[in-house]
This record gives sequence, structure tokens and C-alpha cells, in this order.
Amino acid sequence: MFEKDSEGYLSEVFSSIQGEGGTVRGSCFGKRQIFVRFSGCNLAEGALGLTGCFWCDSQRAQKLKARKFEYEESPGSQKLLNSENPVKIADIIEIIKRLITPDLHSISFTGGEPLYQLDFALDLSKALKKARVKYPLYLETNGTIIPIESQMKELAKHFQYCCCDIKDTSSKVAPPDRWKNLVLTELDFIRNMVKFDIETFAKLVVTSQTQLQNVRWISKKLSKIACYDGQVVGLAIQPVTLKSKELMDEYSISTTHLNKIFYTAAEFLPPENLTLSIQAHKYLKLL
Ligand code: SF4
Repeated sequence: MFEKDSEGYLSEVFSSIQGEGGTVRGSCFGKRQIFVRFSGCNLAEGALGLTGCFWCDSQRAQKLKARKFEYEESPGSQKLLNSENPVKIADIIEIIKRLITPDLHSISFTGGEPLYQLDFALDLSKALKKARVKYPLYLETNGTIIPIESQMKELAKHFQYCCCDIKDTSSKVAPPDRWKNLVLTELDFIRNMVKFDIETFAKLVVTSQTQLQNVRWISKKLSKIACYDGQVVGLAIQPVTLKSKELMDEYSISTTHLNKIFYTAAEFLPPENLTLSIQAHKYLKLL
């Protein structure tokens, strides 16, 4: 079977500006991207015995076998059309080609969890190159699915940038006794990406319940992961955004607590490797 005949499950395809990531190396904050949102998330589907991050803003993408996906009719129109899943790679490439604009910087593979359909994601990467859609690829991942060596080599051929989530305990994605192992897996993932020269940074969503001792532990571990030129991996600290007022009242973070989180991370990470990340696309009401 050719890659273009391979098929998988998507949630959305659209053009927008990358609103997250701040200023650390590997971030594409402020750049035009085409977002390919894969459906299915291993953490939401119970990989750690729970149902995903409580603040997940892509709940529609949590289930793998979504019947339909949406795609933007033309770049900037924000008009979404429906199509059936599973979708063939040749059809995705056609949609992507129609969304290319002169300012396009890169194509983001996001989710859900794009690596939950790892072979499909790799097939799409290869097929894009063959179709001469030669833009850098950006991977947004929860870092819990570790590709084997041969898959890593393929990923490294196609992906230039990666944002890997480190889940705080307050995400409620893991039972307390499994949280440290989860973070160690995510750190291993980052180590692997960096080893293959993919520009990778960590993103930590923080809430009023985020504990400084956990930030300290994560930052210390991150400070030991260096890129090929010796620079340590960056950390983007992102205050949680929530839709419901009740959740906001309970979990939104105060400036004082956010400052303390930055000071704590800076015990181990140099200031140039620390950044604030906001979900700028939400403030601007972009897709
Ligand atoms: S890992 Fe990502 S897609 Fe999965 S539940 Fe958390 S935020 Fe949602």
C-alpha cells in the first residue's frame, strides 16, 4: 500500500497562528501553521486508568474513532466543512494544499495525541514530502508514546520542531502513585527527540494547585537534557485556561503563584530557557 492510500482518524484541519510556546527554542509561537488535529488520546482513553487532563480543550479529539472530521473551507474563512473518517492521506494532502498561504511557516501535527496513530502520522509526513508540500513539521505531543528506534529515525527525517507536554499533578491525568513515572516517560521522550536533533521544548500547564516541589523536581531533571550544542531544553510555563467559571474560580492561577513557579524553575533553568506561554489564539478568537 502506498502512503497516500493509508488512512486514519482526524478531528480537524485548519489554518491559524500558533498561539502557544512563548520564546524558547523549538517554539513556533506567532507563526502561521496548518493544524492537523488527529483524533484519539491514549491518556483520555484510560492508559493511566483515568480519563485525561481535566482542562483538556480538545475533548472532541479525545476519542479515536470519531465518525467525522472538520476542515476549513479556505484559509482564514473559519468556515468548517464536514467529512467522513477514516480519511485517506491523499485527501488530507488536498485539503492542506488548499490551505497554503504565503505566510505559512510549518504544519502542526496535534491532537488528541498524534502519536496514538504513529504509523498514520509517519505515512502522512512521508506523503507530504513526496507531494512537494515541503514545510517544516511541528509535533505537539503528550510524550507518553515512545517511538522505537526505526520510527524515531523516520520522525527525525520529517519533524523539525516538537512541543512535549509535561503533565503537572493538578492535570489529574494520572493517579498520584503513577505521576512520577508519567513525567519520567515524558522526559525520556524529550531526551530521545533531542538526540535526533529535533528542536524540542517542554510545556507545563500550571494551575492554582501546582506544587512548587514538583516544579523544582521537573526543572532539575529538564536541566540535565541538553541539545547537540549543549544548550538545555526550554520550559514554557502556561497558565491554565478554562471555560467554566466554577473551574476558573478553583484552578486559575494568581500572579503571586505564577511568579513563584518561575523563580522555582529558574533555580535550575537559565532565564533564556524559560518562557511564559499563553493561548494567544483564544484571546484573538482564532481557530
Ligand atoms: S493529553 Fe492532550 S488530548 Fe489528551 S486529555 Fe490531555 S490535553 Fe487532552
